[in-house]
This record gives sequence, structure tokens and C-alpha cells, in this order.
Amino acid sequence: MAKIHQHDLITSVADALQYISYYHPQDYITALAEAYDAEQSPAAKDAIAQILTNSRLCAEGHRPICQDTGIVCAFVKVGMDVQWEGATMSVADMVNEGVRRAYVHPDNKLRASILHDPAGKRINSRDNTPAVIHFDVVPGETVEVKIAAKGGGSENKAKFTMLNPSDSIVDWVVNTVPTMGAGWCPPGMLGIGIGGSAEKAMLLAKEALMEPIDLHELRARGPSNRLEEMRLEIYDKVNALGIGAQGLGGLSTVLDVKILDYPTHAASLPVAIIPNCAATRHAHFTLDGRGAARLDPPDLSQWPEVQWTPVAESRRIDLDTLTPAEVASWKPGDRLLLNGKILTGRDAAHKRMTEMLAKGESLPVDFRNRVVYYVGPVDPVRDEVVGPAGPTTATRMDKFTDTMLARTGLLAMIGKGERGAVAVEAIRKHKAAYLIAVGGAAYLVSKAIRGSKVVGFPDLGMEAIYEFDVKDMPVTVAVDARGESVHESGPREWRQRIGKIPVAIG
Ligand code: SF4
Repeated sequence: MAKIHQHDLITSVADALQYISYYHPQDYITALAEAYDAEQSPAAKDAIAQILTNSRLCAEGHRPICQDTGIVCAFVKVGMDVQWEGATMSVADMVNEGVRRAYVHPDNKLRASILHDPAGKRINSRDNTPAVIHFDVVPGETVEVKIAAKGGGSENKAKFTMLNPSDSIVDWVVNTVPTMGAGWCPPGMLGIGIGGSAEKAMLLAKEALMEPIDLHELRARGPSNRLEEMRLEIYDKVNALGIGAQGLGGLSTVLDVKILDYPTHAASLPVAIIPNCAATRHAHFTLDGRGAARLDPPDLSQWPEVQWTPVAESRRIDLDTLTPAEVASWKPGDRLLLNGKILTGRDAAHKRMTEMLAKGESLPVDFRNRVVYYVGPVDPVRDEVVGPAGPTTATRMDKFTDTMLARTGLLAMIGKGERGAVAVEAIRKHKAAYLIAVGGAAYLVSKAIRGSKVVGFPDLGMEAIYEFDVKDMPVTVAVDARGESVHESGPREWRQRIGKIPVAIG
């Protein structure tokens, strides 16, 4: 009978979460490097180059791949013959203690994103606890743990349906992926769960994402069952949609499609999709009574020699003298290097600001002729002015956009992914612009930030309003002052070029 010590599980969870915060899985990097070599869309290739460059910087600097360091999800299989030596905590408490230690680690502090009272006050737990933990009790005398730090942007795009048993699963997936937009930071993976009950299908989709990327091996050896056939079919059809990296249009939207299934009711066909993003983060370890798990650092010589630099045609923009006329001159797809001061703000700050404006109160910060960056940065360590600070999903700010543009004199916004129709219309009406930075390149983006101070709502923590002083911060114009969007034109163009799906020209 194996004796497992509580501190070994706590230490192993903490070490694994630190490890995955800065090391991508090797299989993801290999697949992304292949996608980089094959990519023909300049915008998508540039985005992949940023993600690969960011990955190496994070691995070398031991800092998070993304500013969203995720919600921790754990699948724990506890052997029935395991004996817990001197344990004072439940196994769930041990996992949560490991999460706490990982997220407050002084050398690599991770962002605390978990809020208590989600339907009410939404109070940050400050150490990213609790994790979402799934237990299985199995024969044997080991404890197996699969642990992931799942980004909110990709988790928010999860989908579920109850199909009729005669419906096509492939058709539903291929029709559903475009509705997910680009806020899940492709290229990534799709986890698909089929069967069981509603909650079982969702769980299968999440667990499927814990498997390594091996689509090319599958294609080389050929499918041996219906699920493997579906993996290939969905992979090919989703990539033929032309969505591409960051939704900019291109050849690689998914690097793999993983499917798990379970028996289901004769009347039912539950299907779930959970996407995984450019910050794919998961680790697996087994405890057998011989101490805490050891995760060896990856061999960085396996990372491709990709060193992102701004494209030659990038325009330098002086934010401190920015005018409405200059913003109106930007075109979709223009690459800009921002210099000067930007303000930040995301969900909680926007909600509070629009409530204050509705009550006739003045804001703590003047947004006139300024640019706002939708970001919740990681706290700095050592000599950093700010930790990794990549963009958050812009659609969550859509409902505030008209008010912000109309009432504050704001000129432009920076985020990731597409804007919804209501925001695009507001941008067109106020002749503003929406710019994108690359989601999943947060540490690289933070290198452009030379100064940082909180200028409003300090009680909101990472959601406070900061003023950043930036030098050559790389962004792309995604929606221009006429309301034209690269997230519509890019995928349409690449779908047409790939030529496997009919495209309405317009
Ligand atoms: S890569 Fe995108 S979706 Fe993933 S954690 Fe980062 S911001 Fe969120």
C-alpha cells in the first residue's frame, strides 16, 4: 500500500502550475512551428511569430505566457489502495493549497483571476483558489493528476448542444466554430465531448484537451475508428474556414481536434466543444509514495528559431499628439507601433465608468484624445514595471463602447478578437478605431511597456485603470473609422483562397 504525503501533493501541484505558466507543452510548439512554416497569410504568420517568440521569452524568463494565468482545472485519479500519511486536509484542500502557493510565488507571481460570489459582488479570492477539481477513485496505489490553467477567453467560447441522434456532429461543429469569433486566441485545439448526459459531454470535452497534439501522426497512420475519422474531418473543415491565427484570416485555426465519447441515451446526442487557446497549459504527474513529482524543463533547442520583429511597413504613432484626423486615416490591417501614454480598463472599470457617467459624475481619468487598452496585467516582479500584459477579449466591452466614445472623447481601443455589430457601429459613428494586439503574446507585449502607474479605481486590483508608457507597442488596425473589420475581410479572403467552402463575395 503506497503512502502518499499531503505535502507531496501540495508541492507537486504548486510546481506543476508554475511550470505550465511559462513552459508551453512541446507538442504545441512543434505543431505551431509547423503551422508557422506553412502559413501564407502575412497577418496570421506575424501573429504566430509573436506567439512563438513570446513562448521562448517566457521559457527563458520564467514569466507567464499570458496575462490570464487561468482558472485551475484538475482531474485527479486516486488509487483505492492509497494511504494518506498523516493528512490533515481533504484531497481538494491539498490541491487548492498547491494552487495558492503557485499563484503567490514571489519569483513568478501569477494573476489572481478567481472571484467569489460570481452572480453578486464578484470578490477576488486573491490567490486564484479554488480550483475546479474532478475526482475518480480507481484501482491501484497511485495518485494521478492532470492539471491545467485554462484561459477565460477560450473557456468563454465553450459550446453545448443536444443534437437529434440522426444529426451530423461534424456539421454542427463546423457551423459553430465561426460563431466563437477569435476571442479564444487561435491557433489552438478543440476538445469535443460526445455522449453521456449534458454535464458529462462538457467534462469529456475538457478532459480531451489534456491529450497531446498528434494530428499529423494520426493522419500518417490513418484513422482506426469513427472518432479518429471525425478528428481528421473536423480538422480539415475547420481550417478550411480560413479563420486563421487571431481570426485575421489564414490557414491554421486549429492544430488538433481531440474527441472523447461515452455511452448515451437512445433519444440523445449531447455534444460539447471547449476550445484551447494559444496559451495551452497542462501538466500530468503521478505520485507513488516516492516523493513529489519532478517535471523536467523542456529542451529549448526544440523551439523554432523564430524571432519576431515589426514588419518594415509598420507606422510609428505618437500617442501624446494623437488627433481624430490621424485615427481616421488608419486602414484595416495597418500595422502600428504605439509610442507614448495609453490608459487601461476592462470589464469592471468600464461598468463603473458608465454607471458614473449615467449619474453625471466625473471620471477619475480624462480619456479625451486617448487610447484605452483592454488588459488586466500580471503584477511585476524584480525590475519589471509590469508583468505580462496582453489584450483581453474586446467583445465584453462592446456594450460600453458607444457611451465611452460619445461621452469621454476616447479615440481608440486596443483588445483582442473581433468587435460585435453594436461596437462596430459605434466606432463608425464616432470615427474611432479598434486595434488588436496578439492574445497569447503577453510577455512580448509587456516588453514595450516602459512605465506603469495606477490612475483610477485602485480597489479593482488588476482591473484598475493604469497609465502605461509604451515604446513601439505592436498593434494592428482591426476596425477603422468607416467600420471596416479585418475579422470579416480576413477570414472571407482566406476561405476563398483555400477554396473548399463556397464564399459569398461582397
Ligand atoms: S491566449 Fe487568449 S484565451 Fe488564452 S489565456 Fe491568453 S488571452 Fe486568454
